[in-house]
Amino acid sequence: MTNEDELLLRRAIGLAGSAREGGNPPFGSLLADAEGKVLVEERNTVLTDGDITAHPELKLARWAARELDPETAAATTMYTSCQPCGMCAGAIERAHLGRVVFALSTEQLTTLKPPVTVTGARLDGPALFEEARVPVEGYY
Ligand SMILES: [Zn+2]
Repeated sequence: MTNEDELLLRRAIGLAGSAREGGNPPFGSLLADAEGKVLVEERNTVLTDGDITAHPELKLARWAARELDPETAAATTMYTSCQPCGMCAGAIERAHLGRVVFALSTEQLTTLKPPVTVTGARLDGPALFEEARVPVEGYY
């Protein structure tokens, strides 16, 4: 990790602080190009937006997928105050971002906040393969 990485990571931590000041969970992220220029920054707005998906990392991944060509996206680095959750990690992967630099690990975060009781949805399947394959076949 370079001095520039630490500088941009501190900026992401600052965004986490401003998310908290704005009444939201304390998480912030930014996306920088290959030269370290900040392209866009985001804060968690889960509470003020009433949107459980309003994580800053997800917003940045969506922005990158919409606004950047694949080569540019692959050259970006996301700086984020905390290790991305599973939802955001999936979006980051689909947006083909090149690198993620985070401050707090998920393990470190769990020492700072109450544990979240996650009850995963029950998955039933696969089923109805012959019918479900029809809209998919030939698409790709
Ligand atoms: Zn997330």
